[in-house]
Amino acid sequence: MPSSNHLDNRDIQKDARAWAAFTGSNYTAALRQMKSPLAQGLLGERLSARKLIAMLSEHPLIGDRDGSPRLGENGVNSEQAWSFVRDVDFIELALVADFLRLFPVSDAGTGSGISSYTLKHTAEEFLKPHCSYVSNGRLIWVAAALGLPLSSVEYDINNPNLMVGVTEREHDYVRRAADPAKPAPQGHHYRPAGFQHLEAALQQASTGTLTAERWNEVVSEPDPAPFHDWLLLQLGRRDAVGEVAFHYSAGVNDSDHDIAHQPEEFLNILDTVGASSEFYAAAERAVAEWAAGGVRTDRISGSSDDVEGHGAGGGTIERYDYYCPCGQGEVLEEHDNIPGFREHDVRLLCERCRGSWHFVEGRSVRDWALWPTVVNADAS
Ligand SMILES: [Zn+2]
Repeated sequence: MPSSNHLDNRDIQKDARAWAAFTGSNYTAALRQMKSPLAQGLLGERLSARKLIAMLSEHPLIGDRDGSPRLGENGVNSEQAWSFVRDVDFIELALVADFLRLFPVSDAGTGSGISSYTLKHTAEEFLKPHCSYVSNGRLIWVAAALGLPLSSVEYDINNPNLMVGVTEREHDYVRRAADPAKPAPQGHHYRPAGFQHLEAALQQASTGTLTAERWNEVVSEPDPAPFHDWLLLQLGRRDAVGEVAFHYSAGVNDSDHDIAHQPEEFLNILDTVGASSEFYAAAERAVAEWAAGGVRTDRISGSSDDVEGHGAGGGTIERYDYYCPCGQGEVLEEHDNIPGFREHDVRLLCERCRGSWHFVEGRSVRDWALWPTVVNADAS
């Protein structure tokens, strides 16, 4: 039986023959490219030249239609034919494949995902100096060979770009990390799992010491972050805590800082980013709410009216309106302080909030607090 090494060699030779024929180059030059350490797949399988070539006839979106090519150097429906002029074309395509393998796959329904044109620029920044130019067409071509979801850009069939189904947050992280003009990410929750491996391998290749093995994906453990989850649920509140949640969420999305699993980490983040004393006070209120196990919203209005009694003397009726957490409805707190007719009641008058919030049990009506139902439902 042939060794797997022997099979790999046969595979590489077949690829070299196919690539030489496709590009009109000579076999030896093609074989040298196929054997390059950078073309062996740093994050996954070696990119197959034959599969790549087959995409141009077989792929449902980019394959030939009635014998005329649909993908060229500039993208789909591009007049510009491929131009394979350098002896590193295939190595560069293999590197683009590893770049695209960084990202989790997302659904590329019409219009979603990331534009091939945006991805090509990120690839150029990230793969420098090994590959400093990536055409739009080549980016799409490799994405097709990897089986990534592709879709046309909505409402514009003449657009040369396609939407590629990779996740936006991870892409934004890599773009920011690769662009020297942008501040380096300060939080790493959206760093793709293979990012450090690929970065290190490219670094080694620059100094001629590429020794990195193919990356073996490590399945990460679940990472519970109850404070983070709770704070994101406060988004949309029209008060200081809602404001805190808004800025925190924007900072997480932009990788300006890490996520805060617990309030302690949140306070450290505030310190690091240099929060204003005003913002710090609002943040303290958020932490206090979290610690108290419930949310108190801002009061809209309140009244206390004297009323006639029912034979046993007069009393008062108190009525307080508070915003509900989403701000569209309200929390109504009422007290009937009438001898012989005492009643205390608090109600959540909002259809939207009723599904996602409940009153913390075991508290008096005056001390009511709301707790998000979807998080930590046993906390009350
Ligand atoms: Zn509401």
